[in-house]
Amino acid sequence: MKLKNLEMALEKLDTFERPRADLEQYQTPAPVAARLLFHALMQGDIEGRSVLDLGCGTGVLACGAALLGAARVTGLDIDAGAIQVAEANAARCGVTATFITGDVNDLTHPLDGPFDTVIMNPPFGAQQKYADRPFIDRALREGTVIYGIFNRGSLPFIQSYCEGRATIESVVAAAFPIKKTFAFHKERIREIPVEIVLLRRIKA
Ligand code: SAH
Repeated sequence: MKLKNLEMALEKLDTFERPRADLEQYQTPAPVAARLLFHALMQGDIEGRSVLDLGCGTGVLACGAALLGAARVTGLDIDAGAIQVAEANAARCGVTATFITGDVNDLTHPLDGPFDTVIMNPPFGAQQKYADRPFIDRALREGTVIYGIFNRGSLPFIQSYCEGRATIESVVAAAFPIKKTFAFHKERIREIPVEIVLLRRIKA
């Protein structure tokens, strides 16, 4: 599948019915999702791989990974409503993925891992400071390589937070357009500069 076709398929997916500000529910726009997924595909981390989408929301990244030929895809999100949308989105794409409702912090929740690849657009911590940390921790526990979307400027933090646990292998800059979603948003649309960061777990 070509990048453009993937983008078009992801563009058609349903979004959050009632997005929650406290969970920082912003669906990854199709061009950014396709960018992340193609980057991972080119590195050999999608096709034929087991893939986990942490904080999958409406399943944009999970569906995209399945469309690009992942061997199996699992998505985890705390919001049961979003999981329902993700299931419908997968059906619409004609792909199979397992979606689980659960908290990323809850290690008792079985996720049918380990996984080759984790993909995630975690909360950036705008509403709740450090909200991205449990995502990094869980990703390093479940997967070998992690592709995550972070606020631009997060690299020094990621580097020190992952010290001894993972190395940063590549960083791709992107712009994440956010449409006015919540009452506290002042502008109709705002472009947030982000980075797609590839982390590789250091073998224990
Ligand atoms: N990955 C999706 C959604 C990104 S928004 C996409 O790319 O479009 C961040 C997601 O993290 C939301 O769906 C939110 O419900 C989820 N989330 C926030 N805190 C969580 C937690 N503690 N455990 C699991 N999911 C969580």
